[in-house]
Amino acid sequence: MSMSVAFIGLGAMGYRMAAHLPKAFQSVWVWNRSFEKAEQHAKTYGTQAVSIEQATQADIIFSCLPTSRQVEDIIQAHPPKAGAIWVDCTSGEPESAKHMVEFLKTYQADFLDAPVSGQTIGAEKGTLTVMIGGDQAAFERAYPAIETFGGLIKHVGDSGAGFAVKAVNNMLLAVHLWAAAEGFTTLKANGVDLNSALECINASSGKSGVTETALPQRILNRSFPLTFALPLLAKDTGIALNLAQHAKLPTPLLSLTQNLIQAANLTAAPDSDFSAAVKLYEDWTKITIK
Ligand code: NDP
Repeated sequence: MSMSVAFIGLGAMGYRMAAHLPKAFQSVWVWNRSFEKAEQHAKTYGTQAVSIEQATQADIIFSCLPTSRQVEDIIQAHPPKAGAIWVDCTSGEPESAKHMVEFLKTYQADFLDAPVSGQTIGAEKGTLTVMIGGDQAAFERAYPAIETFGGLIKHVGDSGAGFAVKAVNNMLLAVHLWAAAEGFTTLKANGVDLNSALECINASSGKSGVTETALPQRILNRSFPLTFALPLLAKDTGIALNLAQHAKLPTPLLSLTQNLIQAANLTAAPDSDFSAAVKLYEDWTKITIK
């Protein structure tokens, strides 16, 4: 396609997501704060490493940064051209999406909140779940670009709805993670072999994404590979809880989980994967989940 497409933020997710864009677009511009990553990306995938001034003038601009704060800073410093669509794949804040929509209206550009799920492996394979909030027509125009790295691509509502779905998804991940830590520690304390228990549970009603992937691939084998940083999970549980509080809902379980994840994040070693949150529980119980 002749449109220009840019990707801003070549981190664990963005680097892999942007690698799919050349399948459908001739002009793919990439920018990263540590610029050598953009240069490496260009060499590896045939994209073009460009300045932030150029990247923000593409027809479709993707961003995937740690929080909405960094996205807002870039958009405000370098607003896109009229007719452009900014597709933000950060796991961001719904309120920020609404602000960015209003801000970009003054430049006749659109903003879609389009966070993703599926971890780095999904980014690599181009099978990410993309949950999108914002203008339906902008969604349809951006679809061919999103499709390059997306599996399930779903418009979930007005601006902010995508960020809200992502935050609640990750809150559920945190709930399952902590519950699995308590459950498997209980089994170990009662003399049960954890690998046998895992096999049974994954064929039973108590299974979850955590028991199916995080437990066998990260926790039981003690590898805790850093692909999704614990501070990012703590940020997401905070966004979810803010949404619940904004709606004046009682959320005892979500509040407790957010506190636990915050505590785990405060006490974790630097550069900890999200799965390392279970180490806080291991410290309390002096039982290792392995
Ligand atoms: P990383 O920490 O790996 O990458 C962060 C990226 O943001 C890097 O490119 C970094 O640049 C850039 N960056 C950080 N601060 C700034 C700044 N002030 N100005 C400009 N660029 C900045 O994060 P992930 O890729 O893991 O996560 C990105 C988003 O995707 C997050 O919102 C996360 O919650 C979400 N997410 C992550 C998943 C995962 O499995 N990792 C899964 C699904 C969603 P530099 O290289 O210079 O540091």
